[in-house]
Amino acid sequence: MKGKVRSTKRLRAAVVGGGIGGISAACALNRRDIDVTVFEQAAALGEIGAGLTIFPNSLRQLERMGLGEALAAVGAKIGDGSEYYRADGTVVGSMLMTDSSGWNGIYGMHRADLLNVLAASLPRGTIRTGHLCIGFEKDVAAARLKFANGETAEADIVIAADGIHSILQKYVVEPTPPEYSGVRAYRGLIPREKLPGWRQEAQQVWMGDGKHFMVYPVRSGRLLNYVGFVPSENTTTESWSAIGDRDELASSFDGWDPHVVRLLEAVESCFWWGLYDRMPLASWTKGRLVLLGDAAHAMLPHLGQGANQAIEDGVALSVLLEGRDPADVPVLVPEYEKLRRARTDIIQAEARKNGLRYDSKYANLHQRDREIAILGTLRKSLFDYDVERVAIAHLSEHQLSAN
Ligand SMILES: Cc1cc2nc3c(=O)[nH]c(=O)nc-3n(C[C@H](O)[C@H](O)[C@H](O)COP(=O)(O)OP(=O)(O)OC[C@H]3O[C@@H](n4cnc5c(N)ncnc54)[C@H](O)[C@@H]3O)c2cc1C
Repeated sequence: MKGKVRSTKRLRAAVVGGGIGGISAACALNRRDIDVTVFEQAAALGEIGAGLTIFPNSLRQLERMGLGEALAAVGAKIGDGSEYYRADGTVVGSMLMTDSSGWNGIYGMHRADLLNVLAASLPRGTIRTGHLCIGFEKDVAAARLKFANGETAEADIVIAADGIHSILQKYVVEPTPPEYSGVRAYRGLIPREKLPGWRQEAQQVWMGDGKHFMVYPVRSGRLLNYVGFVPSENTTTESWSAIGDRDELASSFDGWDPHVVRLLEAVESCFWWGLYDRMPLASWTKGRLVLLGDAAHAMLPHLGQGANQAIEDGVALSVLLEGRDPADVPVLVPEYEKLRRARTDIIQAEARKNGLRYDSKYANLHQRDREIAILGTLRKSLFDYDVERVAIAHLSEHQLSAN
């Protein structure tokens, strides 16, 4: 590998899964001239009607892909006025919303808006819907995928971005079931006009006894995204689109800060699902197959980093694969895992810890509040990270550069 001449042949990548992880990986690979195709099981690309937060660590990568303007057009800036509260509305502290340089690169995004921006930037024909992957095999020269519709595909590298229930994971590592957190999340969107005077551009988190409630704007601020996290023994539903009971949601936060109660009175319908994660896997890569996003490192949403980390994964891979020969792939993929997992292992663990803070699982709430006050240090370390720079440095440090 050392001193190797840059390949003149375009590397072929097949991505299984057209969620935020798979499509953003395709954007990163396409930017570095890798021939990429995404295979998605659904008949059309889609994300449920809910939000997510894009933080500086992934926004700087998306901006380098040329998506800055499109994201600014549909995102909702989140910054000043972002705060943590006790259940009754007492302010616990402010939320850090910049990286160390002071850049406030944070958007609340409707998930479908983010997916549309990513997908629209890809060459026509990159995404093939209606392709449920049902099998994987490889030999020395290539990897092959089988689909339920009878089609097959061949590639130099297969990227499994098929989510927490990944069917390709078992070709890499002994499968382990996802772990239920004991928490159910109710989630939905409300037109801002229904809540006149609601704080602009702010993320707000109310932390109660075993529960927490979060609100932030999406879609240029026209919609408010809310999530109510409540304990539940019911482990059965983990679908992204199960319809929740709005009365059950409202009664879970009865007597909380009047702002929360007023918002819940305006809710007409919501989704709910159980929250699952996994302990770090023993391995993410084997030969020509790599895991990415939730397939590699499913995490709880209490740091808002699941999709952000999936986006970082794709950028790291694209840097490692740029200009490579197909024969290099099995040598390079372990480098992807080395590069990425030190960070995602920590974030998986920190997301669990942050859930305990938000759910006030502390004998002494002052201790929790002290930890919330210094959470900015962790957030800075998440936001400052530049995966592209780290991946380029990794190549040079290990003398793996393509030219
Ligand atoms: C309540 C909640 C709030 C969250 N908030 C945030 C947030 O604010 N910020 C953040 O960064 N993250 C957040 N996350 C996490 C984030 O949503 C996930 O980490 C992220 O969406 C994972 O993306 P993915 O592409 O890896 O997987 P998925 O989104 O699960 O996509 C997998 C795709 O693969 C397809 N697929 C599956 N099997 C096959 C197959 N066999 N063949 C073909 N296609 C297949 C599926 O149809 C799907 O399209 C949140 C999660 C939850 C539950």
